[in-house]
Amino acid sequence: MPTESSAFSADEGNLLAATQATIREALFRLGYSADMYELLKEPLRFLTVRIPVRMDDGGIRVFTGYRAQHNDAVGPTKGGVRFHPSVTADEVKALSIWMSLKCGIAELPYGGGKGGIVCDPRRMSAGELERLSRGYVRAISQIVGPTKDIPAPDVMTNAQIMAWMMDEYSRIREFDAPNFITGKPLVLGGSHGREWATARGVTIALELALAKKGIPLEESRVVIQGFGNAGSYLAKFLHDRGARVIGISDVYGALYDPGGLDVDDLLERRDSFGTVTKQFRNTITNAELLEKDCDILIPAAIENQITRENAPRIRAKVLVEAANGPTTAEATRILTERGVMIVPDVLASAGGVIVSYFEWVQNNQGYYWTEKEVEDRLRERMIRSFERVYEIHQERKVDMRLAAYMAGVRRMAEAARYRGWV
Ligand code: GLU
Repeated sequence: MPTESSAFSADEGNLLAATQATIREALFRLGYSADMYELLKEPLRFLTVRIPVRMDDGGIRVFTGYRAQHNDAVGPTKGGVRFHPSVTADEVKALSIWMSLKCGIAELPYGGGKGGIVCDPRRMSAGELERLSRGYVRAISQIVGPTKDIPAPDVMTNAQIMAWMMDEYSRIREFDAPNFITGKPLVLGGSHGREWATARGVTIALELALAKKGIPLEESRVVIQGFGNAGSYLAKFLHDRGARVIGISDVYGALYDPGGLDVDDLLERRDSFGTVTKQFRNTITNAELLEKDCDILIPAAIENQITRENAPRIRAKVLVEAANGPTTAEATRILTERGVMIVPDVLASAGGVIVSYFEWVQNNQGYYWTEKEVEDRLRERMIRSFERVYEIHQERKVDMRLAAYMAGVRRMAEAARYRGWV
């Protein structure tokens, strides 16, 4: 998805190429051959679909959708479906590779998958969204399923959309299949905690990073870009923990107050897409927000926000990526050289898919956990994931992103080798 706020060259912003370069480096450092890179550099399967939808005005619109399945050596593929006007094929491919890495880091029995539909849900009615969601499931139904590829929410998709998708899949298969998709409403087999899982995971990763740096969370000044599912819950959790949330943003602009924002009031006022800044006069731009003085910067919106161009002016001590792909490879190098600690996306935002895994396990067993059980198990897995990556970072003297890639790719490569694929 192209940036909506900062300038970068097309080369620098090429997510798939940057991901492939880091995968190649990670495999090389782990001692794998070039053949393994050939296997892992692209999704094993990629489907483009065209979905005709009856719109409320009586006309038909044909939407383009994608589903990428990166690698299923470890188990079925898993990953969200995003609805956004600038979704592209290459972006979905890169996102599916990142899902493989997240599952690898968290030791989940999955490979990575991802889907996307080119559309703007902010401009569609509930009826149109339902018909589009059902049409997408019909279009991809042959390649997905509870033991093949399990979708979930992502940018601008939510529990209601998961419910329609689950219902459509169950109708096609003629049996109830709650384990086809995660992020469902509780009453349809959703899990406690899935709604806030990404934000809780980011909070845990942040606490661990701060402990390594010897920085207390209380009174730390935090800037969060994005006020969607991850950004808004993060603002709440960090505010509740005594941090000072001094900046937040949505797609239209940003709010900044060095004295601390009234987080509860902002949460009250946001709409379901995370829009809130339109209600205020004294807003700044997203680009300006990223460069404000703060201790902790959390991009929780979209890709390619921190680039070669603005990285030298980032003033945070710790950068925690709640969004997928917010920092380019060039920016990672600049920030690492400047001593900024980066907690990379594939580690920091793994909480979402971890609790999705818990949801799928509960669906498979038909036995449901309490919120406390989910929370404790999430914490345990996030700590293990963080320590695994941090250890590689220290021992192999590589930056946190490369360390995360090395941790993420290892199981997949090993599984592919046992299967005799490479
Ligand atoms: N869309 C989320 C992610 O990027 C969650 C995926 C899932 O729960 O499967 O990690």
